[in-house]
Amino acid sequence: MEWELASPGGSCSECGRSFDDRQDYWSAIFPAEDGFSRRDYCADCWRGPVDGMFSFWRTQCRREPAPPKRFVNNEVILEFFERLCEGADPSRAKLRFIMAVLLLRKRLLKEKSRRRDEKGVFWVVECPALGKSFEVRDEGLTEEEVADVLHEIGSVLNVRVDETHETDAAGEANLV
Ligand SMILES: [Zn+2]
Repeated sequence: MEWELASPGGSCSECGRSFDDRQDYWSAIFPAEDGFSRRDYCADCWRGPVDGMFSFWRTQCRREPAPPKRFVNNEVILEFFERLCEGADPSRAKLRFIMAVLLLRKRLLKEKSRRRDEKGVFWVVECPALGKSFEVRDEGLTEEEVADVLHEIGSVLNVRVDETHETDAAGEANLV
């Protein structure tokens, strides 16, 4: 699975201009051959969603000293996961599973049950924010494999993947 940043330095991938501190810009995810790539656009170059765009969001550039870093909001991550689940593309199976792990850790999904059939073990998860349930096949990945991909997802989606709980520390996420 490959993840690619088209403009890692914080610049527009169309006109090449660097983003200024506090400048609003757009990020979009495109499916790539074996993963996803992200392109960033300044407001002048943003033309709205185009065919083939997997998901997109608006964000703001923060230069140093910038903490706390601005991360995409939960809606972006949830929409990304929802899109992954809509297409039953087998090449995305690992990614669906890893996104489910991430969202369970972030408590954006709740595990309802597990079922097993001839195709494997499936986690039935519920997303209260979307009012939907999803089935995700357990890909049987090791903790290291999950951590590797989560790191890449984190840099492309600008999501915090290293903290298991954002709002409270009750309970334990013991899914991986
Ligand atoms: Zn531009």
